[in-house]
Amino acid sequence: MTPWSNSNPPATLSAAMLRGARGLCPRCGAKHLFPRYLKPSALCPGCGQDWTLHQADDFPPYVSIIVTGHVMAPVMIAIGSSELPLWQMITLSVTIALVLLISLLQPAKGGIIALQWWMGMHGFKPGGRTELAERLSGSRPD
Ligand SMILES: [Zn+2]
Repeated sequence: MTPWSNSNPPATLSAAMLRGARGLCPRCGAKHLFPRYLKPSALCPGCGQDWTLHQADDFPPYVSIIVTGHVMAPVMIAIGSSELPLWQMITLSVTIALVLLISLLQPAKGGIIALQWWMGMHGFKPGGRTELAERLSGSRPD
């Protein structure tokens, strides 16, 4: 793994997760984390971080479903209390739910990958917080 000398490391977990949710490398913030919809890049061309070490598994869909459910509750009430025919209510509800679910998957996965990296989980050794602490204490040269 290359050092952080030419990068902009996140200062906090939330900053790292925000980068991941935006599809940026949580470590350097400059390059795209996802070359394809849900497949993270193997190595970040900016900082050299290996992103194949993550184990997000089913957690991104869980996050996406929970957020969609909370957003859809008032939407379903509004649609249900409208004067629309039943088939239009169903079509509208299913369409909004599917768009939300699909559009939230990548940000959820990026945030979870960033969380795992920051905490040093699975293959991310040392984690982002450890790298930052070492850098700030001067024990890491860059
Ligand atoms: Zn990077």
